[in-house]
Amino acid sequence: MIVDLQTISRTPRQFDLTLQPGWWREGSDDIQIRGLEGPLEVQLTVSRDGERFVMKGRLAGKLCLVCDRCLETYAFSLRRDFRLSLMLPKGWESDADETELKNEDLAVGFISTTKIDLDDIIREQIYLALPIKALCENTCAGLCSRCGVNLNRETCRCSENSGHPAFLKLKELQIR
Ligand SMILES: [Zn+2]
Ligand SMILES: [Zn+2]
Repeated sequence: MIVDLQTISRTPRQFDLTLQPGWWREGSDDIQIRGLEGPLEVQLTVSRDGERFVMKGRLAGKLCLVCDRCLETYAFSLRRDFRLSLMLPKGWESDADETELKNEDLAVGFISTTKIDLDDIIREQIYLALPIKALCENTCAGLCSRCGVNLNRETCRCSENSGHPAFLKLKELQIR
């Protein structure tokens, strides 16, 4: 959804969006997110503060993520509140007064056009909300490094034959 910042004033404008799973488009280097696991609720307000535009938002929904250990997909609850400050280059508006960048605890994004795509901003915030390590369960056993079975569901016999080669020899001797 494209919003033209020239139509935004001091009075915050509110956008309440419900994004359906079909909204998500997989990126080419997107290996962690498989999509939305249901609708994503988005609340956004945009207002103008001098030369800047302040955006406040809240995302709530569920993502379908790939577990780092077992590579299965699982539902991840996404909740994120964010504040962004968008700056246009000086002089985009001829009658603008010179304003200093205020030192606030806001992420400042420089934009080159007054037309911004809310979808891009939401997508970026989704990426920022991802866990550093995506795990289906904290106790996920992952995949066997030898045969590749999912150790959450199956057991394999690989570990029985692992160990130092010298000890494996001993095992064989004992069998004989
Ligand atoms: Zn897992
Ligand atoms: Zn195995």
